[in-house]
Amino acid sequence: MSMTTQIHEKFVALFGEGGEQYAAAGRINLIGEHTDYNGGYVFPGAIDKGIVAEIKLNGTDKVRAFSIDCDEYVEFSFQNDEALPGQQWARYIFGVCREILKRGGKVAGFDTVFAGDVPLGAGLSSSAALESCYANAINELNGNGFDKFELAKIGQSTEHNYCGVKCGIMDQFASCFGKAGCLIRLNCKTLEYKYFPFDSKGYKVVLIDSCVKHKLASSAYNKRRESCENAAAAIRKNHPEVEFLSDAKRVWLDEVRDRIPEEDFLRAEYVIGEVQRVLDVCDALERGDYETVGEMMYQTHFGLSRLYEVSCEELDFLNKLARKMDVTGSRVMGGGFGGCTINLVKEELYEDFVNAAKEQFTARFGHEPKVYDVVVSDGARKL
Ligand code: ADP
Ligand code: MG
Repeated sequence: MSMTTQIHEKFVALFGEGGEQYAAAGRINLIGEHTDYNGGYVFPGAIDKGIVAEIKLNGTDKVRAFSIDCDEYVEFSFQNDEALPGQQWARYIFGVCREILKRGGKVAGFDTVFAGDVPLGAGLSSSAALESCYANAINELNGNGFDKFELAKIGQSTEHNYCGVKCGIMDQFASCFGKAGCLIRLNCKTLEYKYFPFDSKGYKVVLIDSCVKHKLASSAYNKRRESCENAAAAIRKNHPEVEFLSDAKRVWLDEVRDRIPEEDFLRAEYVIGEVQRVLDVCDALERGDYETVGEMMYQTHFGLSRLYEVSCEELDFLNKLARKMDVTGSRVMGGGFGGCTINLVKEELYEDFVNAAKEQFTARFGHEPKVYDVVVSDGARKL
């Protein structure tokens, strides 16, 4: 049974007819890693995996919600923050309601059933899919007229205020703005964005999930941010227009090389290179030049591994294997220290690559990686 049918049948069983279905997607980021907090570019797209929710106003001031994947039913009100539900999944829906109210929007009580097929915690942002799905649905059902940016911010604030995750805007942005066959270059400083064609005929995008998460991640993340701020501050003394590290030219970094620790220099070298690589990938996509796109992905991996030092043995292993097998592009996706590599693979090579990755990774590390095919697809929408 398809996910939408399963949701509909459960909805009818619990609440009767008359529901409407909404969907929103998880996301990939093709290139542009650790650039967001440096005011640089990211380059995400929505994927063909997401959340689908059936929803109907119920004439009360309460939400009655059923999660198919958790097999749990919850009722909650949302008039004040004290009513925060205990279930993690319900907190996302609650948070979206609260954030809409805080912005002066209307939220009437509703009944809902939802399910999803974004793997949880794999770096594909199942949580953004959940937030964007409900932000969009509640917005439409109550005639609030918030634009997509406001919906993305409602999702981001939900993470900040109700889920304890201080994330940037990229995930919710991609989930709300995604379009089939397009990636979106987002300038994290100005929030200007532009769509670029990504109809990679003859190629597949596949994620190989190492299924490891090394503990270092959050303290290392803060240290990387400090290094970047430190490098930017040194450059700013010569070039006051540098607000974020991404504003700096490569030669400006060289000018301050002996005034900052070598470690900070290497971090900044990666970031400045990465901002340029996003622009190069966009140019390459406009020419349909997927070989260059792939080469840039390898350069990003090299930078993340050797200069920014946020890779790990498992991810370097997967990247090296991809290179050895002539996969077009491969790099670690996300913050690092675990998670997935994103790979751009020629269709004829796909089977061999995936099988080799499973076999050789398992032989080396003792557990199987997971494999997710993704297709760049539409973002939040009514079905
Ligand atoms: P991710 O990287 O996938 O966004 P998070 O930890 O941020 O990982 O979000 C995962 C959380 O989102 C889950 O713990 C759950 O509360 C909620 N969630 C995501 N997808 C679903 C789903 N299909 N059903 C119920 N809850 C979901
Ligand atoms: Mg998340």
